[in-house]
Amino acid sequence: MHAATRRKVAVVTGAASGIGLSVAQRLARDGATVALLDLDAEAVEAAAAKVRADGATALAVRVDVAVRASIDAAYAQVREQLGPIAILVNSAGIDGFKRFLNITAEQWERILAVNLTGTFHCCQAAVPDMLDAGWGRIVNISSSSAQGGQPLMTHYVASKAGVIGFTKALALELGPEGITVNTIPPGFIDTPMSRRSEEKGLLGDTIENHAARTPVRRAGLPEDIAAACAYLVSEEAGYVTGQVIGVNGGRNT
Ligand code: NAP
Repeated sequence: MHAATRRKVAVVTGAASGIGLSVAQRLARDGATVALLDLDAEAVEAAAAKVRADGATALAVRVDVAVRASIDAAYAQVREQLGPIAILVNSAGIDGFKRFLNITAEQWERILAVNLTGTFHCCQAAVPDMLDAGWGRIVNISSSSAQGGQPLMTHYVASKAGVIGFTKALALELGPEGITVNTIPPGFIDTPMSRRSEEKGLLGDTIENHAARTPVRRAGLPEDIAAACAYLVSEEAGYVTGQVIGVNGGRNT
């Protein structure tokens, strides 16, 4: 457990499912008060109920991270009910598989709006609280596909590569203020998103077969990402900023 997380307010986006849900549960177990934000109102309420069942304080708020007014309204609720935001983990995201020539401008714009502009909105609206406190932790979930490229995903990969560059630049700006900004590019994590892609035959193989070829011989779990996040948001990670922390079973080095 990272005790310094105790009683701090953590916002986790995409918290109704997969990686975001696991991060919310882990930070709550480490003592944080957690606000779970997600597009799906019912699912995010159910996720917050799971966190509360472990004895933690958790607030569920429906948001669309691509819409600034939605984030501003959600953060106002978080501040009123829980207090200023000290920790932010951006996990909300959508994927997409299309041949380059078949990607429409609308599909391109939606992926960029959720994955990249959503990260911008969520960070920009949270940073004032962190500046006031002289302390903050931001973790942006990018993707290993932005490190190695991925066919049929130019729009997705571009959005996630943007998150990596954004993280590095913001870390330089906020370092003197006591705020760290890092990114975790996950590689092949067994979540509802991956299972949906597998069902549609978009992964080129089953998750199990991909896992068998992964150096550590298993698929990643949301808990693997949550564990790295728990470290990055802790007090003791204060000298770690602007970093790309791969959690991928050795698939990319
Ligand atoms: P997931 O199970 O689908 O969870 C993502 C969550 O984000 C869902 O609850 C989704 O809600 C929510 N969301 C989508 N659009 C949103 C929006 N506009 N505003 C607020 N919430 C929104 O996927 P995951 O696998 O945990 O992925 C989490 C993050 O990791 C994503 O950014 C993804 O790109 C990244 N990632 C995952 C993997 C992997 O192997 N799983 C690998 C690399 C990167 P709905 O279900 O209602 O859309």
